[in-house]
Amino acid sequence: MKRKSSNQSKCPKCETKTKVRKFPLVIHIEPQQMFLLNKQCKYCPNCDLIIAKKQEIESLMAAGFSQENLQIVGNDYLVMGTLERQDWKQGNQGSISPAEIIERMYVFQDQWNFEVVPAGWYPRES
Ligand SMILES: [Zn+2]
Repeated sequence: MKRKSSNQSKCPKCETKTKVRKFPLVIHIEPQQMFLLNKQCKYCPNCDLIIAKKQEIESLMAAGFSQENLQIVGNDYLVMGTLERQDWKQGNQGSISPAEIIERMYVFQDQWNFEVVPAGWYPRES
């Protein structure tokens, strides 16, 4: 495997060098829209922490919506968890329902499981 020396960053929690992997993310967009995004993220195997850039998520979301749905991109959203690759594929093809996706999803346990940089992402307001 090739290593990019320019892309070495550290986990904000334990300072271990982070790795890069694709994660099928499940994103909930207000008021009621589910969006699946297979995104390359940094992650720390130590903490089980996934790190993504807010800007990257938002531009990929914008690219994923058709013109008439584009207005939803400005809405609040929450990255809820990840899926197994095969579940993600089925979800993307529409062969499993959003309810099934939620059942199969690995929900992030707390904020540390998913960190968006720069700090501009907040959990859903209560
Ligand atoms: Zn860590």
